[in-house]
Amino acid sequence: MTDETTGGYEAFLEAVDEGEPFALACPNEHWWLPPRRICPTCGATELTPEPVPTVGALETYTRIEIPPPGFGDDAPYTTAVAAFGLVKMTGLLRGVDPDDVEVGQQVTLSLEETAAGERVVAFRPQ
Ligand SMILES: [Zn+2]
Repeated sequence: MTDETTGGYEAFLEAVDEGEPFALACPNEHWWLPPRRICPTCGATELTPEPVPTVGALETYTRIEIPPPGFGDDAPYTTAVAAFGLVKMTGLLRGVDPDDVEVGQQVTLSLEETAAGERVVAFRPQ
């Protein structure tokens, strides 16, 4: 299976931007973000691009006060993990004060930019 068939991470970002995100699913219902050639859980090599919902559930989040290189102009910011169907994604939680969110809250998936202009997966409350 090549990157052309599985889609690389850039293809994933483009799909998010177009509102039609996908992830790679193995025959045993393990889901991963690209790029992947092998399922890390079961070792399956038949990974198929499948659509994922654009609305997910917030699983955890944390506020970053001291940012890593490249995110200096974004701090403080909130990074989060949300589940979209069976796939979990990490992204920036935007458009809400972190004191006002709850685990389980619904968020929408979007492609946004950091202050430095890097494309990044973002979540916003519905
Ligand atoms: Zn698997």
